[in-house]
Amino acid sequence: MGVESLADVLFSGFDVRLTRVTEAAEGLVVEAVACGPPPCCPGCNSEASRVHSSYERGLAGLPVNGRSVTVRLRVRRFFCDRGRCRRRTFVEQVA
Ligand SMILES: [Zn+2]
Repeated sequence: MGVESLADVLFSGFDVRLTRVTEAAEGLVVEAVACGPPPCCPGCNSEASRVHSSYERGLAGLPVNGRSVTVRLRVRRFFCDRGRCRRRTFVEQVA
């Protein structure tokens, strides 16, 4: 199974870009980054424009085609620039 079809299986319908696939003893390790349009702040619903930082979320041991796949997804934290909003930053949601 190629990397492209693996990406289709795992991420179809999501704004996620595959960056690296590594073969490890326990299975495949897939690294990906979220790359969708800027999300809206859950506090005030205005669109975020500035990225604060990003961090990695891990999903371990997903069975795909009989193999164990670990996904490391990098998601972004955004600033909310609306002064009245109580949420200063928030993390984008990737299903
Ligand atoms: Zn806000």
